[in-house]
Amino acid sequence: MAFAELAVNTPVLRPGSFSYSIPLGLEIKPGQAVWAPFGPKIVQGIVLEVSDQPAFGQTREICGVISDTPLLSFHQLNLAAWISQTYLCSIYEALSPMLPPSFERRSVAYISLEPSPLNKSEKPPVTLSPSLQKIFDWLQTRDITPQTELENIFGKKTTQTAILKLINQGLINRTYQISPVRTQTKFEKHFGLSEQALAFIKDQTLPKLSPRQTEVFECLRENPQGISKSRLNLLVKNNAAILKALEKKELILTEEHQVFRQPIDYSHIETLPHLKLSPPQEKCLESINRSLNTPPEDDQNPRTFLLHGITGSGKTEIYLQALAEALRLGKKAIVLVPEISLTPQTIARFAGRFPGRVAVLHSRLSPGEQFDEWQRIKNGQADIVIGPRSALFAPLDKPGIIIIDEEHEWTYKQQNPQPRYHTRTVALKMTEEYGAVLVLGSATPDIDSYFKAQNGLYQLLELPERLTPYRGASLPKTELVDMRTELSEGNRSIFSRNLHASIEKVLAKHEQAILFINRRGGASFIQCRDCGYVAMCKSCDTPLTYHPDQENLVCHQCGRHYPNPLTCPNCKSRRIKYLGMGTQKLEEETGLAFPQAKLLRWDSDVTKGKDSHQQIMDKFSRHQADILIGTQMVAKGLDLPGVTLVGVINADISLNLPDFRAGERTFQLLAQVAGRAGRGLAGGKVVIQTYTPENYAIQSAVCHDYPGFYAKEIAYRRELNNPPFQKLACLVFSHLNHDFCQQQAILLAQTLREKADSTGSGTLEILGPAPAFIQRLRGRYRYQIILRSPNPANFLRDINLGQGWSIDIDPYGLC
Ligand code: ADP
Ligand code: ZN
Ligand code: ZN
Repeated sequence: MAFAELAVNTPVLRPGSFSYSIPLGLEIKPGQAVWAPFGPKIVQGIVLEVSDQPAFGQTREICGVISDTPLLSFHQLNLAAWISQTYLCSIYEALSPMLPPSFERRSVAYISLEPSPLNKSEKPPVTLSPSLQKIFDWLQTRDITPQTELENIFGKKTTQTAILKLINQGLINRTYQISPVRTQTKFEKHFGLSEQALAFIKDQTLPKLSPRQTEVFECLRENPQGISKSRLNLLVKNNAAILKALEKKELILTEEHQVFRQPIDYSHIETLPHLKLSPPQEKCLESINRSLNTPPEDDQNPRTFLLHGITGSGKTEIYLQALAEALRLGKKAIVLVPEISLTPQTIARFAGRFPGRVAVLHSRLSPGEQFDEWQRIKNGQADIVIGPRSALFAPLDKPGIIIIDEEHEWTYKQQNPQPRYHTRTVALKMTEEYGAVLVLGSATPDIDSYFKAQNGLYQLLELPERLTPYRGASLPKTELVDMRTELSEGNRSIFSRNLHASIEKVLAKHEQAILFINRRGGASFIQCRDCGYVAMCKSCDTPLTYHPDQENLVCHQCGRHYPNPLTCPNCKSRRIKYLGMGTQKLEEETGLAFPQAKLLRWDSDVTKGKDSHQQIMDKFSRHQADILIGTQMVAKGLDLPGVTLVGVINADISLNLPDFRAGERTFQLLAQVAGRAGRGLAGGKVVIQTYTPENYAIQSAVCHDYPGFYAKEIAYRRELNNPPFQKLACLVFSHLNHDFCQQQAILLAQTLREKADSTGSGTLEILGPAPAFIQRLRGRYRYQIILRSPNPANFLRDINLGQGWSIDIDPYGLC
């Protein structure tokens, strides 16, 4: 008898696989998708392994196959196992991003009366509580009802408890059915000439045809490969009756062909040759090409490259030419870009260089397009896959090169749901496994990447000069405004005199400005407006967060509470307060200060819809507004020629998030603003307002000094034991009841500390529990524990955290 180890698509409490027996006569291979029983349900499963011995004693039988051939390769299964081990998630969660789009099908619960309600008026044999009775009565009016329908009518919780009670009393039955398929292969009719027609043509014995029939017949004759229905419709209108007539005469052949819904419309894309590289570009490309041409076992050098060059220095051109070399060598490639830069222009730039060989995968494509692109890649019909982080899992057969553009971007870390992977980490693992080459590009590399490059783990490639608008072009002028001076000189507005005058000038000249607040989440720190002092936790050196409801300050790392200070401990000023502000407030203030200006706001509240980013950008580029207001997202608009001024309202906001990466984020953001190669901005300027102009992150950003910033930042990281020197894990417990939530967090922290003591995990630090930075999310309270050690995943791997806990290994941002 044969057995299979399955990863099952259902919440499981242990990370491993489940053993099933394979029914006789069923051929099953690793990587294949099957149906399998799980408790009372039938669930989807992916075959990990086939053997003659089950890993567990008692097994149930697989019900049937979903796919006849494996969906995942041997390499992908290995990678999933590694992801599950590294990020502490179930094996199914780990492989889920590798599955075809729309693969997910769940079993849906249906409720019916037991025994079937032959006599519907019959009273139930026991008396029921009013709420149970209501549901029971409702069920009596039908044969079978989806549970979700009951939940919508009676409420989720009430329905779920009632159903359990009614099942226990033997009054109702619950069965499961598989939800319907959402997307399928698309077919289209294809027409060609029949054998008989061809014979007629040869013998010149073609029967007489009407003029319209001749028109269609000639079309088919000109297309010996056949012609699709949609194309024929374009050539000959209203052709249905004619086709029927020709079919009757047995002159044409009709077939169903699969059509691939293609997201890239090549008819609008211009095919472009490679540019002649500048000498620095040439040097970078040579190093990458050398690795591509060297077998990994013979390569003495690291096969990961960190390409450091500001925007407009020609990084993308290097990617394009490295891709050409990879393709020439018969290798396949993955190109990852941040979600927000995946615009039609970006795609056109790649597709124009490699016509017909590029596939795109991202969530804004229609389900049909996603499904077909995935199939095209799987069938080997695309050589280059371009997309956001999830495109890393495209079914390419062993890519030979992976490129991650803007590698420092935070969207490369998956937050929810599991697997909470970092794209760079997984890509590195993949390139090691496949002997491939990894190229990381950025103007402001992630500290971790630069650290690795400094330590010889990556090859550092640098592009020192800009190519746009012309070679060696200088950067826009950046001015730093000290808001403490503004206040002491009597200006209480959120606009410094400099920024105010600059905006007036822009408006007078009918140019455009961008104003932004670099905030994400609710940064709410307490700052002294006279000296710039920020309230910090004494034990963690972390900015404290203001909680208006409790009128106190909380450390989100260790959980300590502090009173809200009335005077500044540094300069005794009474002007120490919460300076938080959102984009809405900024819009209001701007409207008051510049009533003549047309404003446009861009933040996550107004960009929920599909393509809404693009719409806002288009509106602004058509000059339908004078000032664009938003969070860091607006940094993308800096390339617009009409924009001659960028104002950062308060650079300190992102600097004072209780997160060890706050300095890095602030630097990246300001450097992006100050170093952006906008055509228009080259003549304009950037104004940065701050209460702490002496801060190293702000200073280095203004001087475009990445190495200077890195040197300071890495010293702090070392001093405070933060990554890349140690690794972090963040555990979050969430629950509707506050006290229960807190208790669970305290309990787990205790358990972890005991385990750490007993196993002698000397270097392991356990911080907290503390309220999570987002203290309440969708009605649930949240508490967190942070672990810091060389490898927290190792320590956590065999601990069963239980329900309600989530784990984030190498967290980015605040939990
Ligand atoms: P990055 O990716 O670093 O932002 P790009 O590769 O997009 O830089 O280059 C910026 C601009 O310079 C683009 O318009 C590009 O076409 C142009 N460019 C890049 N390399 C060259 C080159 N070798 N010669 C001329 N123009 C170039
Ligand atoms: Zn002060
Ligand atoms: Zn603290």
